[in-house]
Amino acid sequence: MTKNISVLGSTGSIGVQTLDVARMHGIKVSALTANTSIELLEDQAREFKPDIVGVVDENAAKRLKIALGDTDIKVIGGEAGIIAAAQYEKANTVVNAIVGVAGMLPTLSAIDARKDIALANKETLVAGGSIVISEIKKAGIKLYPVDSEHSAIFQCLQGCPEKSLKKVILTASGGAFFGKSMDELKNVTVENALKHPNWSMGKKITIDSATMMNKGLEVIEASWLFDVEDKDIDVLIHRESIIHSMIQLKDNAVIAQLGTADMRIPIQYALTYPERLPSPAKELDLSEIAELHFAKPDYETFKCLALCREAPKKGGIYPAVANAANEVAVQMFLDEKIGFTDIAEIVEKALSDADFDKKNITLDDILWADKETRIKFRR
Ligand code: NDP
Ligand code: MG
Repeated sequence: MTKNISVLGSTGSIGVQTLDVARMHGIKVSALTANTSIELLEDQAREFKPDIVGVVDENAAKRLKIALGDTDIKVIGGEAGIIAAAQYEKANTVVNAIVGVAGMLPTLSAIDARKDIALANKETLVAGGSIVISEIKKAGIKLYPVDSEHSAIFQCLQGCPEKSLKKVILTASGGAFFGKSMDELKNVTVENALKHPNWSMGKKITIDSATMMNKGLEVIEASWLFDVEDKDIDVLIHRESIIHSMIQLKDNAVIAQLGTADMRIPIQYALTYPERLPSPAKELDLSEIAELHFAKPDYETFKCLALCREAPKKGGIYPAVANAANEVAVQMFLDEKIGFTDIAEIVEKALSDADFDKKNITLDDILWADKETRIKFRR
């Protein structure tokens, strides 16, 4: 089947790199979406000639409609534009590169339309894992991880017999503040926090890396993707981001996936699986790197990681609560309304305040918990 993709969040870090891969391999792009970045979206639309583009912001959509007036491209505004792109008939794979839980309903819409999914939007699985995984099974579609650690695990698992997995070892760079004490973290600035040692990414995930919330979200993401319990997921600090993650099998053999820190490798694998095609990513030269380092994470200073590991144990809704509190807190930190260490405080308070003991949660429960948490903590 010829690959024909719809890229949700095409103007972001993952979106742009997805289009690099599409350009290099001549993958057809049928739909693109953004929130407000219409200048870049217009350039992308003129280059890739999708049939439709979706823009969440209605005013921006109106402006883009005028700008693309000389083309046949249909511009759809509001949430409807994102859903239309997620379900667009000509696309067989949807790349979800939206940031935040705003990506969850589009993922479910794509599943509903029986599209395969290349998932970068980890918040989809963090907040809605139980529902998303059960819908994917019902629809019989494929879910390909894009997140580098999860792609690494997926790559390591190729050729391993079913049920041979013993443990997942998620590597973590440690973010901008590895080795810092709680006191040192109190006065760090937005600018400091946005300096990731190895990856260039969107702002939200860069802050999540600095707090290590990102690794916490990834533990939950891994538990859903690979059906592993929290106790069978190790987090290992690996500053160089060369080993993207590892698996340990029942016989204690460990398999790792290595490469330069370039998201176009996992994105491409998700789009061309099981093929291995040439990539624009740099070759890895281990003799030049010479040394790789490993350490245990500091769960006390980087409390968000510990909180994410506890949240699912409290009940199915709690990861959605932790995620919503974090999204609100990160935005407030970026807006310089709160300090860096307040992010973890807010996530912790949201989890301890939430009171929800229902066993089988529904999509409505998740959306409600997300909304209530945002209302409560947004300043
Ligand atoms: P960016 O912030 O760079 O891009 C986000 C994209 O989503 C943009 O196209 C943005 O549009 C769009 N968007 C923002 N808000 C909304 C909304 N409410 N509804 C619909 N679309 C919206 O993020 P990243 O590319 O860094 O991250 C995307 C996802 O991938 C995240 O879940 C992240 O955790 C995950 N990820 C990212 C990695 C990376 O290297 N960047 C690595 C691994 C995972 P606009 O441009 O108009 O704002
Ligand atoms: Mg990752």
